[in-house]
Amino acid sequence: MEFLPLFHNLRGARVLVVGGGEIALRKSRLLADAGAVLRVVAPEIGTELRELIGSSGGEQILRGYSEADLNGCVLIIAATDDEPLNAQVSADARQRCVPVNVVDAPALCSVIFPAIVDRSPLVIAVSSGGDAPVLARLIRAKMESWIPPTYGHLAGLAARFRHQVKKLLPNVQQRRAFWEEVFQGPIADRQLAGQGAEAERLLQAKIDGEAPPATGEVYLVGAGPGDPDLLTFKALRLMQQADVVLYDRLVAPAILELCRRDADRIYVGKQRADHAVPQDQINQQLVVLAKQGKRVVRLKGGDPFIFGRGGEEIEELAAHGIPFQVVPGITAASGCAAYAGIPLTHRDYAQSVRFVTGHLKDGTSDLPWKDLVSPAQTLVFYMGLIGLPIICSELIKHGRSADTPAALIQQGTTSNQRVFTGTLANLPQLVAEHEVHAPTLVIVGEVVTLRDKLKWFEGAQAGV
Ligand code: SAH
Repeated sequence: MEFLPLFHNLRGARVLVVGGGEIALRKSRLLADAGAVLRVVAPEIGTELRELIGSSGGEQILRGYSEADLNGCVLIIAATDDEPLNAQVSADARQRCVPVNVVDAPALCSVIFPAIVDRSPLVIAVSSGGDAPVLARLIRAKMESWIPPTYGHLAGLAARFRHQVKKLLPNVQQRRAFWEEVFQGPIADRQLAGQGAEAERLLQAKIDGEAPPATGEVYLVGAGPGDPDLLTFKALRLMQQADVVLYDRLVAPAILELCRRDADRIYVGKQRADHAVPQDQINQQLVVLAKQGKRVVRLKGGDPFIFGRGGEEIEELAAHGIPFQVVPGITAASGCAAYAGIPLTHRDYAQSVRFVTGHLKDGTSDLPWKDLVSPAQTLVFYMGLIGLPIICSELIKHGRSADTPAALIQQGTTSNQRVFTGTLANLPQLVAEHEVHAPTLVIVGEVVTLRDKLKWFEGAQAGV
């Protein structure tokens, strides 16, 4: 190990920064965040840095560096573009046995700045010992993405109860088991969901020896239109915590794979005509599983609140007092449009976009056709394949031109995506010709022409 990571308590301690430019500013910001008292020495100091020094109660010295500037400082930073000067500062600091960092010159450093993931009080530092700072930064970026911003609040929660738990469980092993349960269970869920008071209440109950609440929780999770890359961080986190996953036909296998390995998977998919599991039965199943104390993920294609019947499911949960969270997902319209090169709105072509169900009750045309034909509006039909001939003819009958551009996007955002463009007049014919099947999204409006203008081709979008 080239460098030993230590976390430095700088609160109230004086730190010398030599240099007044951009790099000095960046380092000074970090130091000020850690509560250091800045002493910045440079013939010129940028405005922002001067403001920072002012607001953090530091001092600025507008002249060249002198060895005496080190007096009283616990850490020295050389951040100038003058190499001999940086080397001098480094030598002076080492002479006095004070830790020194020279920006971008690992050989002159006794301490180096790691890449930081700040979830205070939880802080993660990554270092490549100065050999490959970019690599360290990339690792940091990965961590940023899978550690939710509120994660630090868990540490805060633990801090508030640490003494109580220590008193209750003098044995280290017992304490470790206790905290592992807290950080991986419903108490952490509450805290991460922003319900700090409830998390505290549950933790206090656990300390007081009360039996944990028997009720689990349901997460209604939007899985997006197909490409697993389009999941949200929150969706992934909850999927990896679940005890049970109830999923739809629309949820791609690659997404299901991302659920916790040992979670039970229950298929409740609905084919259009044959309702494999009726909706009220799904609602009840969610209630039963949650009442068994399970953490249940209800995984839905796209967004749970857009033609996803999410509303009905949470109504049932609410009626039974079962806690739930809803995680939005990228809806098919956004996903398919982006991956097919069709902007849903455009200043020149469409000032609004409308998501419409194409599932016509009893095969009749019960949609507000008059509203749907107004110009400069993009229409997106979900579940519109079966009713497509009626949809197209009604739109034409009510005044939308038969030449209106339209697109069919089958299995959008997946590696099987197929896109066909035509007009309202020939769209049903395209379905037959190319044997288009569900899931397919229909987009109607002038914006469809932009696909050609953008010279879009399948696979233009990364991941397809
Ligand atoms: N809640 C989902 C929609 C469910 S309704 C969402 O927000 O996306 C089901 C309809 O969505 C399908 O009939 C189809 O029209 C559309 N759909 C969903 N995923 C799709 C995909 N990957 N490609 C094309 N259409 C899709």
